[in-house]
Amino acid sequence: MSDQSRELATAVTAVRSAARACRAVQERLVRPEALQKGDKSPVTVADFASQAIICAELERALPRDPVVGEEDADTLRHEAPLLKEVVERVAEQRDAVSAEQVLAWIDRGTASATSERYWTLDPIDGTKGFLRREQYAIALALIERGRVEIGVLGCPNLPLDGGLGALFTAVRGQPTRMQDLWSEKPARTVSVAKLERADQARFCESVESGHSDQDESARIAEDLGIKTEPFRIDSQCKYAAVARNDASIYLRLPTRADYREKIWDHAAGSLVVESAGGRVTDADGAPLDFTRGATLAHNRGIVATCGSIHDEVIAAVLRARG
Ligand code: AMP
Ligand code: MG
Repeated sequence: MSDQSRELATAVTAVRSAARACRAVQERLVRPEALQKGDKSPVTVADFASQAIICAELERALPRDPVVGEEDADTLRHEAPLLKEVVERVAEQRDAVSAEQVLAWIDRGTASATSERYWTLDPIDGTKGFLRREQYAIALALIERGRVEIGVLGCPNLPLDGGLGALFTAVRGQPTRMQDLWSEKPARTVSVAKLERADQARFCESVESGHSDQDESARIAEDLGIKTEPFRIDSQCKYAAVARNDASIYLRLPTRADYREKIWDHAAGSLVVESAGGRVTDADGAPLDFTRGATLAHNRGIVATCGSIHDEVIAAVLRARG
């Protein structure tokens, strides 16, 4: 196993800094200041600031590593008031910066997912949760030769020790760790639930019914004998929930045959669950294939579990999907 301590430390610094910027934006959010991207998902000041901050930190510490991020600077370049705010939020985390520098950092995250080694970034996963002041995550992962080697999830609104804000780190071959997102309090390892049967499981899914088929998940839960209500949260906080045993199943069932999951929505979270002892596959039970570029082109849907019940859950998913 290669020593990834420099990569991990860089990713943690970057995600923490981005999380502070996201929190600052959320504190100022009087109305959802969203503009529409082509795919109609809301993009906020915080998405852009987060991507700029993380790309800047990766450029400083690991200048040769490409970054495959969700955002690009195209729309922002023509939105002067929005750009001014993004630059202000970035400047709070780094020394004074120019607008051109910020745009260049954002566009540093537009590499294609073709290199042997690259980072993939969702600067705010769960933008809708962010706008509702609920759950969202800053998700950063290192992929080498099609395998996720490092996963870092910053979850600013996830409860931890009586406060809000949890950081999850996973390095392949080591246990998943959880710590306070905002301070240097010691980390602890987390582990998935130990369950013998799926009827004891609690499952989580997207808040957005357009992102996961909630009617189908209800039928699967019934088939498995699960009596408890699903736990609906936005973003890769669902992977964090399975990793630390707030839930033991995460179901993401396709709502459209042509949707392809994005690598930045799953790379970090999947390693966080696997390194906590769980299993992650697609809805057919196949491993996630990170060798296909920016999407999981060969996979449909996602099923993450605490591991021991995985085969039982996949069997129920296959029955439900016919
Ligand atoms: P979640 O917070 O789990 O609902 O997931 C948010 C992510 O869903 C976003 O980052 C999008 O990339 C992704 N997404 C957008 N449209 C779809 C869709 N039709 N099916 C599944 N995921 C989607
Ligand atoms: Mg996302």
